[in-house]
Amino acid sequence: MTAQDFYDVIILGAGPAGLQAALHAARRKVSVLVIGKTAKSSAFRAHIENFCCLEGQSGAEMLEMAREKAETSGAEFLEEDVMMLDSDNEKYIVEMESGRELNSYALILAMGVSRNSLGLPGEKGLAGKGVSYCIDCDGPLFRDEPVAIVGGGSAAVSGALTMMFYSGEIHLICKQLEVGESLARNLKDSDIAVYEGRKVVQIKGEDSVTGVKLDDGTELAVNALFVELGAKGAVELAENLGISLDETMQYIAVNKKQETNLQGIYAAGDICGPPWQVAKSVGEGCVAGLEAAAYVSHRKSTTA
Ligand SMILES: Cc1cc2nc3c(=O)[nH]c(=O)nc-3n(C[C@H](O)[C@H](O)[C@H](O)COP(=O)(O)OP(=O)(O)OC[C@H]3O[C@@H](n4cnc5c(N)ncnc54)[C@H](O)[C@@H]3O)c2cc1C
Repeated sequence: MTAQDFYDVIILGAGPAGLQAALHAARRKVSVLVIGKTAKSSAFRAHIENFCCLEGQSGAEMLEMAREKAETSGAEFLEEDVMMLDSDNEKYIVEMESGRELNSYALILAMGVSRNSLGLPGEKGLAGKGVSYCIDCDGPLFRDEPVAIVGGGSAAVSGALTMMFYSGEIHLICKQLEVGESLARNLKDSDIAVYEGRKVVQIKGEDSVTGVKLDDGTELAVNALFVELGAKGAVELAENLGISLDETMQYIAVNKKQETNLQGIYAAGDICGPPWQVAKSVGEGCVAGLEAAAYVSHRKSTTA
């Protein structure tokens, strides 16, 4: 818990991006508050296989270590959701679910994304047991096993092509292929079985995925189903403040310093768009933390 109402930097989100931003900002001797629930981070239930310095570690453990480090550096934490962001000429205003109001000179937005699911019965229960929303993360776990991928966009098709490094039997199911010429040609030249105009109506398996059924009755025996239907950034709060989105209108637009179009507001991690990876999130979190701390220090020195 924290008692004060004003912080130099307030970070929204306690996932890899927010925690890394907190660590770097707090080490620059500015006051830092992280607001967010670690257990709601995408990484919490993940098993991280492809982050440079971890040897197959649970996401929950990784987040706990990161939080400890940020706390040791001086960051404070509040396990709450933010409901509203506002500003006046002097500061940013953060309204919490408890009704409490906090203020800061700088904000770092690291609220992640929510992934689009199929919404089929059993899908949630089989997540992490064959149902996956990230080919880059979980593809290698299904080496030499038959897999299905749902989606017709570039993430799904390039994911299917990447999956060929691991598996010899790949089924791609989509309502419609929506990719550029080069990806379409690579797909045509590959051994991937494409079911265009079809959709998955059932996921089979009790303890793990054993197959999928399509709307024309086709049954495919697969051990994994990758749902690559895109994701939505938690951008509504940011939009209220007038923060610009990128060309997809789904993610926050930032420059190389992780600055948004509003002075003193930075964004990092999944909320800035794919690839949705811990490595990208902590990299962007590091930059956002350092830049936000520098902004606050400069502001204080020029207004003292
Ligand atoms: C099943 C699965 C497996 C994965 N496996 C891997 C892997 O092996 N390797 C890899 O690199 N990546 C993996 N990923 C992706 C990785 O987890 C994400 O890229 C990473 O967690 C993104 O970090 P982030 O900090 O941007 O967002 P998140 O980790 O999603 O954190 C978002 C934070 O924002 C908070 N938040 C949201 N809204 C609000 C609000 N209104 N107010 C306050 N706080 C808010 C949430 O509570 C949470 O704390 C996996 C993801 C999933 C779902």
